[in-house]
Amino acid sequence: MPRKLAAGNWKMNGLRANLTEIHTLAERHAEASVDILICPPTTLIHACNGVLFDIGGQDCHTETGGAHTGDISAQMLADAGANYVITGHSERRADHGETDVIVAAKSTAAHEAGLTAVICIGETLDERESGATLEVIDTQLAGSIPDQTTAQNTVIAYEPVWAIGTGKVPTLDQIGEVHSHIRARLSERFADSADIRLLYGGSVKGSNAADIFAVANVDGALVGGASLKADDFSPIITALENS
Ligand code: PEP
Repeated sequence: MPRKLAAGNWKMNGLRANLTEIHTLAERHAEASVDILICPPTTLIHACNGVLFDIGGQDCHTETGGAHTGDISAQMLADAGANYVITGHSERRADHGETDVIVAAKSTAAHEAGLTAVICIGETLDERESGATLEVIDTQLAGSIPDQTTAQNTVIAYEPVWAIGTGKVPTLDQIGEVHSHIRARLSERFADSADIRLLYGGSVKGSNAADIFAVANVDGALVGGASLKADDFSPIITALENS
């Protein structure tokens, strides 16, 4: 069984004053039996040095450096103190036109910089309603997950786009179907597929976390809104510890 992971994605939220939330979490979960990852905005990564949790970026460039104004390389994230980076989040795919090829290149850049990539995949509502979910997942897995993937350098987050920030959550059967499908597909490509952590993401909160964590092949969660406040994220971490 892979070690479980509770990951928080702060998105474009958080000023230095909000670091108190991370310090509060660290105090409450100093002895946690699961891994805890916070992905704050890039501006706060360095300020998180010394915190007991894993710290990640939310995106990285495909290259290590060069004329890419405003971008951040995986190497820079590592240098700032991160050990993870999210790649292929649906907001990046939608807002910045990131294709599977780009996501795979970013994930490779992350691996080369020594970071663990949290690679996000998931269907839109139209794709879900037209019955194309597993086909979309197959395409994204084939295109976004690089060949050098291992259980150490990669985490996969299944995030149905229609569940992100909406309060809508798939049924437990739907989550279980996609997670077991992902596990089966990974086993066709990677020798250590059973140890690759599969996170569910999309409107996870304290009140639904325990049910979601009881689903087979769910090894944790990628949490947006409910990761911003220690009081909201803490029950999710506890539910994962108890799962
Ligand atoms: C996310 O942004 O990855 C996410 C899952 O957001 P939320 O938990 O707010 O739905």
